[in-house]
Amino acid sequence: MMENTNIKLPDNFETYNEARQAGFLRMKQLKEKGAKVVGMFCSFVPMELVYAAGALPVGLCAFTEEPIPAAEANLPRNLCPLIKASYGFALTDTCPYFYFSDLVVGETTCDGKKKMFELLDEIKETYVMQLPHSRDDAALAFWKDQIVRFKEKLEDIFQVTITEDDIRDAIRRKNRERRVMLKYLELGKLDPAPMSGYEMGTRVDAGSFSFDLDQRCDIIEKRTAEVIAEWEANCKGKPSTRPRLLVTGCPNAGVREKIIRAVEELGADVVAFDTCNGNREKVELVDESNPDVYDALARKYLNINCSVMSPNDSRRAYIGELIDGYSIDGVVEIILQSCHTYDVEAHFIKRFVTQEKGLPYLNIETDYSQSDKGQINTRLAAFLETIDK
Ligand code: SF4
Ligand code: SF4
Repeated sequence: MMENTNIKLPDNFETYNEARQAGFLRMKQLKEKGAKVVGMFCSFVPMELVYAAGALPVGLCAFTEEPIPAAEANLPRNLCPLIKASYGFALTDTCPYFYFSDLVVGETTCDGKKKMFELLDEIKETYVMQLPHSRDDAALAFWKDQIVRFKEKLEDIFQVTITEDDIRDAIRRKNRERRVMLKYLELGKLDPAPMSGYEMGTRVDAGSFSFDLDQRCDIIEKRTAEVIAEWEANCKGKPSTRPRLLVTGCPNAGVREKIIRAVEELGADVVAFDTCNGNREKVELVDESNPDVYDALARKYLNINCSVMSPNDSRRAYIGELIDGYSIDGVVEIILQSCHTYDVEAHFIKRFVTQEKGLPYLNIETDYSQSDKGQINTRLAAFLETIDK
């Protein structure tokens, strides 16, 4: 029998859009004081180099449907909504972070995105890192060279010298952030779930709009401590009968309301994320003991379990660790429409989850529109019925 009591959001909770808008003013003030800003879209871009250049990395707007019709004037309609929104925000000049960026950095992850960057470059200079799609020695050497070239590009555009000590310092600071975020995400291991997955994912994404890295860590550490204290005082020793879900697949910020919030309102808890706003980028640190900082960065970033990598068996292995470590009862995979790499890889994920782990699996293909909201709700409700808890 499922419990239907949702975990409440805290009073001071900011939605992703509220946090994004609150960040506009902070960014404007930083620019007025001379801040250098690098806009980016993807976890593969080594932020450490941006910090080492004395600049601020910022994630560019890509998660709502408003600019998509404008983007479709130049891009095919059957393209992933994240790519169309990224370009649409730039084209319609409605992403202040794009406006304030001195440089935009792209990467050759999927085909649609890498070709979109050619159009984006006509609006603002877009430097593209050539990401190899395998993890052998040749790929590692190539990617290391790309990392060195990106450093040189930053030196050139900002007229600075980036030393290895600068990079080491940035590695330490970013590693601290990864540890802090991972500790926060690992709250999902507790039973009953101590907070909603909706809150958890929103806070991780919204954190990127507080541009001071140390302050961002302090905010998340404070929230982690609050959640643990509340859980120990009120919940410890009272396991829940609500199904515990793992969400995997494409970036979900643009569909968080209609899938993650919806499934939690239907009576489940989303406790783990194999996604770029979840554990995926944070689980492996940059090796601080590696004397070659470029090699250390190249190894860490090449290991990100994104489906653009081929093969990408390590993603399945990590999903297995999440299933065991977070006591997962079912897996929901989110595929953004026309995302071929995640869509094809879903075949392996489904087989792994259902056959090797013996759990129910639901694949939801969607875009940023609200037109399939009712249908998704029906599918989520039916999925929860299949979970034996
Ligand atoms: S899912 Fe892959 S391509 Fe998309 S942001 Fe994450 S690492 Fe980048
Ligand atoms: S979700 Fe898929 S298609 Fe969209 S940008 Fe990421 S990898 Fe590319």
